[in-house]
Amino acid sequence: MSTEFTIAVFEGDGIGPEIMTPTIEILKQLQSSSDKYTLNFSIAPAGANHYQQTSESLPEQSLKIAEESDAILLSAMGLPGVRYPDGTEISPQIELRKAFNLYAGVRPVTVRNSKYCPIRRPNGEVIDFVLIRESTEGLFHSMGKGTVTHEEATETLMITRDVSEQLFDFAFKLAGQRKSSGVSSGRVTCVDKANVFRAFAFFREIFDERAKNFPDIETEYAYVDATALWMVQRPWSFDVLVTENMFGDILSDLGAGLMGGLGLAPSADIGNNQAVFQPCHGSAPDIAGKGIANPFAMILSAGMMLDWLGHQNNNDQMILDATALKDAVNSVLADRAQVTSDIGGTASTKQAAQAVMKCLGK
Ligand code: NAD
Repeated sequence: MSTEFTIAVFEGDGIGPEIMTPTIEILKQLQSSSDKYTLNFSIAPAGANHYQQTSESLPEQSLKIAEESDAILLSAMGLPGVRYPDGTEISPQIELRKAFNLYAGVRPVTVRNSKYCPIRRPNGEVIDFVLIRESTEGLFHSMGKGTVTHEEATETLMITRDVSEQLFDFAFKLAGQRKSSGVSSGRVTCVDKANVFRAFAFFREIFDERAKNFPDIETEYAYVDATALWMVQRPWSFDVLVTENMFGDILSDLGAGLMGGLGLAPSADIGNNQAVFQPCHGSAPDIAGKGIANPFAMILSAGMMLDWLGHQNNNDQMILDATALKDAVNSVLADRAQVTSDIGGTASTKQAAQAVMKCLGK
């Protein structure tokens, strides 16, 4: 098994470079403290700023860097004021999901520290579930293809059997891993709108078919509107949720809210051969350049990358380092002086990231 990995780095727009720089420093510190793996970082230019300068949003060369890499680390891309002639935004992060068939958008919702969670938990219930957002089709299938006339606008939702089968298998396997590691009892909830749309009845039918191959995993269904309610009223009752792209897009921000904000929400978009790791948030242009962006979602996404690479390559040190990174962020969260202002602290991006590095060095 290889111990040397190339990481394609999309620094992105807005706060992107500000949170990517300290994250790479942390990854370098981690790898240098053991000789069990090496990460080589390869910068891939793309995004709204790049489009403004060159008229290209995702150059061929950057796509090639991503294709040849072992994993992709991405901050956030897009700026509201920079648009294609059709009025839509520059979103190479969505193009990458399609290019590499990254169908499983993994959004862990883990409350690391009660004081950042806006929900009252009467008996100290633990909030720890994973939302899996299908990331290549659904309503996003229509991206760039919608039609607009003076009278009407149409976008088409697409759900395919092939992608849905892979998506559900991914969800059931993840629930199995969580069950065997004692995190949960092993349950997958199919989140849809099967009461109204045939496409979601089809989605649910495939869910039932694939579930038969995982008899140890419990299954249930929930409509997306009720899921939004329950995510607020009893989020501790979920284990693994699996849903369509647009529904997942919206629910994952609700999940980020449960954790304390977008600055604490990591994610991964995983396919059969490639994966992108990025925070759930966008480029936050309102705070870009101020040095106050929360770097934790980016750092936790890098932790998810180490964990994924470690499991893919049987590299125990990478898995251990992923856990150490999560633990370091958790312990830094205990002290408001070490966190950024979006979650009520006073630290700058640099100070928050340095606190994580210091913790890892102990
Ligand atoms: P956003 O996530 O960038 O910002 C929403 C709010 O959260 C803002 O107030 C912002 O300051 C705050 N915020 C976000 N991340 C933060 C962080 N790390 N630290 C502190 N505060 C943070 O969403 P938006 O404003 O809707 O979008 C801004 C741009 O980002 C748009 O161009 C959008 O298309 C793009 N976008 C990109 C991605 C991506 O790359 N995956 C995702 C969402 C939005």
